[in-house]
Amino acid sequence: MKFDPATRIQTLKQFGEFGGVNPSITDSSTFTFLEANTMEDTFHGEAEGCFLYSRHWNPSNKYLCDALSAMEGTESAWVTGSGMAAITTAILEICNSGDHIISSMTTYGGTFAFLKNYLPKFNIEVTFVDITDLDAVKQAIKSNTKLVYTESVTNPLLQVSDIPELSRITREHDLQLVVDNTFTPMIISPAQLGADIVVYSMTKFINGKNDCVAGAICASNDFINAMIDVNNGTAMLLGPVLDPLRSSSILKNLHTLHIRMKQHSSNALFLARKFKGLGLKVKYPGLDEHPEHELLKRQMNQGYGYGGLIAIDLDSAEIANTFMEKMELEDVGYLAVSLGYFKTLFSCSGKSTSSEVPEEFQQKMGLSEGLVRFSVGLDNDIEYSFERIKKCLNEMNLIDEEKLQQI
Ligand code: PLP
Repeated sequence: MKFDPATRIQTLKQFGEFGGVNPSITDSSTFTFLEANTMEDTFHGEAEGCFLYSRHWNPSNKYLCDALSAMEGTESAWVTGSGMAAITTAILEICNSGDHIISSMTTYGGTFAFLKNYLPKFNIEVTFVDITDLDAVKQAIKSNTKLVYTESVTNPLLQVSDIPELSRITREHDLQLVVDNTFTPMIISPAQLGADIVVYSMTKFINGKNDCVAGAICASNDFINAMIDVNNGTAMLLGPVLDPLRSSSILKNLHTLHIRMKQHSSNALFLARKFKGLGLKVKYPGLDEHPEHELLKRQMNQGYGYGGLIAIDLDSAEIANTFMEKMELEDVGYLAVSLGYFKTLFSCSGKSTSSEVPEEFQQKMGLSEGLVRFSVGLDNDIEYSFERIKKCLNEMNLIDEEKLQQI
């Protein structure tokens, strides 16, 4: 049977201790034992099914982790207080001082800043490459390289990573492939394509409500157990764990993720086609002319579309800003960072979520200062939303008369 993330979640049986259809919330930081010996065994990871302390494991976190590992097809998962906590914990678990990382040049700005500005403190060196250039990835490998880091679909340029090929390269050189799948949950299943570790900002599509920040690491049992080892584990010792109350609310939202992804994707495809029709410079991996359109088609699970993110290049930050302010007034959505919300969100990436990336790098990766990133919402009437956007473009003379008549 083909791998389908939504069906894997649907067939989970998770219920509360009194038969509640939602698992009970374990609102406890510590756990009691009837026998002192069992506590000692739990400390050493030798007591199956026992909980010790919630920085390590908590039953509510475990329910969410079981659902996430089912969705990804990984042996295990662990949830964190933010996407950045997931990313930094996974990287610091793999790398020691003196190691080397190869990373996609286009990543979320916070990730870029961590790799470029923060890791040198630990004498960890990072080489940034164009992740679509597999020769560049191979050439960057050194004797001390430990991992290759990328995003399935990159933020904000929407390049698509070739996960099977990257995995072939990393396996050949005994490296770990870490993939941030924040933009494409359910659409892409990186672990099924050969990624060793999948990280998420659950703040975005997975939770979908913008009411919290959260993250996840999906990986093998060995990796997760090493991360929470009481003596050496990065997660256990840095303490980035997610609060169990949040885990329980995210788990309920996870059960509607498949429906939301389909709607985000179909709305985004509609808008991307219309933007193209208006002659705008549009990036959307669902359009035939996107350089990695075929690659995405080969990697994606069927039925969830091409994702909810679109970028359009309006050349200057000034034009982009005026356009976004107009769209907010016209009720298209909100001028806000973040993504995966039920309303459409838009921001000028170079001046916001990628502002940590120095201008020299922005130019190298082709990030224009006028790039507006849309996280397309769950709008019931996307044609109406398009009419509002068209009105804003028209008022700013950003589309020519002829194109306006045709569309
Ligand atoms: N990864 C990606 C692709 C992101 O877009 C973001 C935030 O925008 C993050 C990670 C960081 O997530 P969080 O804000 O939950 O720490």
